[in-house]
Amino acid sequence: MKSEEKKRTIKTIRIVVDKCVGCMACEVICSAFHATPKYSSNNPARSRIRVIRDPIADIYVPVYSGEYAIAECAARDKYTIDGKDYDECAFCRASCPSRDLFKEPDSGLPLKCDMCESDPEQKTPLCVQWCLNEALIYEEREEETEEELKLDELEIGLESLANKFGLPKIMDIVTRMSVSKKT
Ligand code: SF4
Ligand code: SF4
Repeated sequence: MKSEEKKRTIKTIRIVVDKCVGCMACEVICSAFHATPKYSSNNPARSRIRVIRDPIADIYVPVYSGEYAIAECAARDKYTIDGKDYDECAFCRASCPSRDLFKEPDSGLPLKCDMCESDPEQKTPLCVQWCLNEALIYEEREEETEEELKLDELEIGLESLANKFGLPKIMDIVTRMSVSKKT
């Protein structure tokens, strides 16, 4: 199949680490927005953005979740900030088997930032709106893309999830999500 070039909008959140004060407002609103029903609860463990906190050193680093990784990676990053070494996985965005971060606490399913796209009324991600310190800045840019590639990526992502959690569990979650959106 011949791939077709299209434009797509890349959405990013610029993180200005120096401005973050670790207030956790971003975690609270993200978890509330993604609760079922919406805003019925808030639990930072369900948030797609987490703030790595080190109050003694006055260091706070917001990290929002990225792709699901089926396996731990072979190479890792090392971070030293103001002379302090951080865990090799501390600032990684992946939902990965090596740690509990970015996993739904009850089901263990991976959590991925969706830029709050499930609500078309939200023109700007909620964590950005709630960060009064301007530590999170929403940005968009246009990029050329190939439609065929996007479909391939979707298939690979779904296959990984089905292999890890089993197709019936994935189908159950999708069914529950579609029911909650209709109600
Ligand atoms: S809301 Fe802003 S200042 Fe507060 S923890 Fe999140 S990123 Fe940091
Ligand atoms: S953009 Fe939306 S889904 Fe992503 S971390 Fe922020 S509040 Fe959560």
